Amino acid sequence: DALVDAAIVLRDKHEAVVSPTSWPAARERYDVMVVGAGFAGAVMAERLANDGGKRVLVVDRRPHIAGNAFDHLDAAGILIHQYGPHIFHTNSTEIVDYLSQFTDWRPYEHRVLAQVGTQQVPMPINRTTLNMLYDLDLRGDADVDAFLASRAEPVDPIRTSADVVVSKVGRELYETFFRGYTRKQWGMDPSELDKSVTARVPTRTDTDDRYFTDRFQAMPAAGYTAMFERMLDHPNIDVLLDVDYTAVRDVYPHDHLVFTGPIDEYFGHRYGPLPYRSLRFEHRTEDTEWHQPVAVVNYPDEDVPYTRVTEYKHLTGQTASRTSLTTEYPSATGDPYYPIPRDENQALFKRYEALALAEHNVSFVGRLATYRYYNMDQVVGQALATYRRLDAASERQAMT
Ligand code: FAD
Ligand code: UDP
Repeated sequence: DALVDAAIVLRDKHEAVVSPTSWPAARERYDVMVVGAGFAGAVMAERLANDGGKRVLVVDRRPHIAGNAFDHLDAAGILIHQYGPHIFHTNSTEIVDYLSQFTDWRPYEHRVLAQVGTQQVPMPINRTTLNMLYDLDLRGDADVDAFLASRAEPVDPIRTSADVVVSKVGRELYETFFRGYTRKQWGMDPSELDKSVTARVPTRTDTDDRYFTDRFQAMPAAGYTAMFERMLDHPNIDVLLDVDYTAVRDVYPHDHLVFTGPIDEYFGHRYGPLPYRSLRFEHRTEDTEWHQPVAVVNYPDEDVPYTRVTEYKHLTGQTASRTSLTTEYPSATGDPYYPIPRDENQALFKRYEALALAEHNVSFVGRLATYRYYNMDQVVGQALATYRRLDAASERQAMT
């Protein structure tokens, strides 16, 4: 089908891109060096080249573009996400319009089930979840409100990721759905994490079982990597993969640097390492058409060592007689995937941010460089705003 054809073209292209023989010839000088070919780096490179007319070198230490959103065909020919499930959702028309220059979209609304005992129930908690779990017959929002109010434990002020949930649904539902999952995912108790973490997942009194309620929810029709290929496909952009910034920093002179890696690493961990949480991804293919009813099943039970299992065909719409899955095992070591939102980490980040603000001709953009638990659309928005500021500043400079 069209998706497979597009992905095969992409794989061939991708293999060409990562092969050292196709490395771009080094230019004497670039206007801008961009470290990282994820959303932050790719949007910055595209804007700088396409709108700003700059010559840009993008470097990434991974052997591929697209950062954590990288997808590719696995050995079974199924499009999988190398770094776990990525579902695009946003309320911003500007961000959709921007990305739509580089991709068509496949409408997709994400649904998640949580494995509780022998049952799989909708997550976020909604009316159906409660009816299934407690064998109830709650019929309207008011029934659910009353049920939750009878269990909720008031907490004032609401500070932590435990407070948010306990104050809304009570301790039992908190323990069923949030405590174990969070302890596994973050290696700490929800009471030690900022409230913003579990506040990402709402509680609903209706039967809406979608994971997100954003106006726009879709997957790039030929995948994320294909979208990034088009963003970076510009005569003014060269891409170097499998190369660390430190190896090329002094090889290619540049006037400006865009850094999208971990900010503490940029400053040589001067104030000590900023904590990040990692994951180990176990990818496998099963000889059956479908493994589970929805794209993602969460495992909140603390005794199960993984947090969730993703089945990609639900996300991509690809048809195949086999199916590919990814299981996520949280880990303290490995690539930095998540900044860990808590006060002491934010305080440490602020010290690095002060160094960043004093650094001339360097822009720090993205989830790792600004230490923010951002979704893809937020990173795109942040990069577009950063570009606009840079562009305005260079126009001011040109006028003086
Ligand atoms: P990254 O994608 O991490 O890109 C940074 C790049 O910089 C990397 O490729 C890295 O190799 C490179 N780099 C770093 N340091 C150096 C160096 N010194 N030299 C060379 N290269 C360097 N968001 C959503 O909106 N929806 C989702 O469903 C979703 N699911 C997610 C699931 C998981 C498991 C994870 C981890 C994240 C998920 N996200 C999701 C968040 C999304 O991945 C990020 O918002 C987005 O990818 C961040 O883009 P970025 O460019 O800031 O960072
Ligand atoms: N969470 C949970 N149980 C769930 C889903 C989420 O406890 O079934 C908590 C957990 O702390 C998780 C956070 O809510 O890290 C945010 O969930 P989300 O699905 O947004 O995580 P992400 O997709 O970013 O990994």
